[in-house]
Amino acid sequence: MLPKYKRILLKLSGESLMGEKNFGLDSNVIAQYAQEIKQITDMGVQVALVIGGGNIYRGMNEADTGIERAQGDYMGMLATVINGMALQSGLEKAGVTTRLQSAIKMEQIAEPYIRRRAMRHLEKGRVVIFGAGTGNPYFTTDTAGSLRAIEIKADVILKGTRVDGIYTADPEKDPTATKYEKISFNECISQNLKVMDMTAFTLCMENELPIVVFDMNKPGNLMSVVIGEKTGTLVS
Ligand code: UDP
Repeated sequence: MLPKYKRILLKLSGESLMGEKNFGLDSNVIAQYAQEIKQITDMGVQVALVIGGGNIYRGMNEADTGIERAQGDYMGMLATVINGMALQSGLEKAGVTTRLQSAIKMEQIAEPYIRRRAMRHLEKGRVVIFGAGTGNPYFTTDTAGSLRAIEIKADVILKGTRVDGIYTADPEKDPTATKYEKISFNECISQNLKVMDMTAFTLCMENELPIVVFDMNKPGNLMSVVIGEKTGTLVS
């Protein structure tokens, strides 16, 4: 089987790593994701990863936390590094070679983010995990994912979520909602469909980077998207 995409950027939310828990990391989820990722690297697909931090800390709620937004955002970025280290361990356990690169320097645990070096790792078949988001407050890891995907010339950004694609309405609230198999960037805007935050979405649209939204928790789905089956929703 030939993969549809040669180089992908997989964006996972921090919350997906919680599994059934209310906070932190679920080792079963990490082991499962590692297996799913291994299957596609075994096919020769080059994989870059961006992980959120919402399972540990989100900086946006200054009113709740009493912590200034920018400070909280840096805390959120550090949370993504913790998640990146956890996934790195899971992947290495599964026999996948990895490198963690951080947008905020922390040399004892991660390489600094260097675009050309990241691309070299990918060419050598190593999974590259991008930690610390964009390195800037007021952004999200979706934006980090879009930015890095464009920088490393990924063919697509795969956004793993809890729902299996983009629906006409919120399927958790409206039972009549139907799923799009594919949709254009402009249609998403005109129908006010939230695929990613605006900054992330605009980056993809302006740079013609397709997005696939899919359910990462269903075993085999990642492979299915990568070989071009009709899984999830393709935005292009
Ligand atoms: N964050 C940031 N800049 C970035 C990426 C992330 O400031 O480039 C902070 C922000 O506070 C965010 C937190 O890190 O709330 C965790 O990331 P995100 O909310 O995107 O994680 P997810 O929702 O995917 O778990």
